Amino acid sequence: MRKLQNGVILATISLGIDKTNSVYNWGMEKAEIIVFDLDQTLTESKSPLDVEMNDLLCDLLRIKKVAVISGASFKQFQDQFLDHLVCPPELLSKLYLLPTDGAAFYEYKDKWQCVYNHALAVEEKQKIIKAFEETFLETGFKREERIFGELIEDRGSQITFSGLGMKAPIELKEKWDPDRKKREVLEENLLKKIPEYSIKLGGTTSIDITPKGIDKAFGIEALMKNLNLSKEQVFYVGDAFYKDGNDTSIIRLNIGYKSVGDPGIEDTKQFIREFIKQSQMGV
Ligand SMILES: [Mg+2]
Repeated sequence: MRKLQNGVILATISLGIDKTNSVYNWGMEKAEIIVFDLDQTLTESKSPLDVEMNDLLCDLLRIKKVAVISGASFKQFQDQFLDHLVCPPELLSKLYLLPTDGAAFYEYKDKWQCVYNHALAVEEKQKIIKAFEETFLETGFKREERIFGELIEDRGSQITFSGLGMKAPIELKEKWDPDRKKREVLEENLLKKIPEYSIKLGGTTSIDITPKGIDKAFGIEALMKNLNLSKEQVFYVGDAFYKDGNDTSIIRLNIGYKSVGDPGIEDTKQFIREFIKQSQMGV
């Protein structure tokens, strides 16, 4: 698919479906950094990075910079991604992490270092949590009997609701709100209470609240500024481009992007393989 927006061509590609699609080459040729979403793109929701994806990312890091942006906290990045990433340190220096939808930014210089972190003030956090509590009552939301971890988590620069708790098994999470209807009811009510915040559905059970203006587009703009990259040099891969999905803000950046399908993980692996192949061919 390709479409014109503000005079700039955006590329969404479907590798494995139409490998002859020339939009693929067009969208990738100037890419210097590939930015990935985490949940349902590089890993299953809140699940460890697998060995095959690790190897593909290391191979990609040998030829390009890589960034990962997610609603997850840095702690969650560590548990889910960094603890399972086996890459030589010289490659890690080409990897950038943007937890909490880019409200925080980390780079590797002998160790992971925070470049910036826009944390929410205590009063802001209290206001958001109160809005959730009122929303549960007003919408008749039924809290699940078993919550794995916290229902509402303070991630510093973001407050995140996870319907079954962040640590719930993926099999349960996938069944909890597959059509997003449960979360949309909550989202609608929250929008009335805290319209000054950005409210995004992410993963399989989550609602992420961040200060307005802080979303993945913000994070990627900060990344471009920090690394002195132009829009043509950035390519994005994510799974949640639906209405109010946590990848949708990317579209307004007018950068090339790929929406990975179902299952997103396999689609992403295929994308990386094809990208490396095309790069080696000098395309
Ligand atoms: Mg995702």
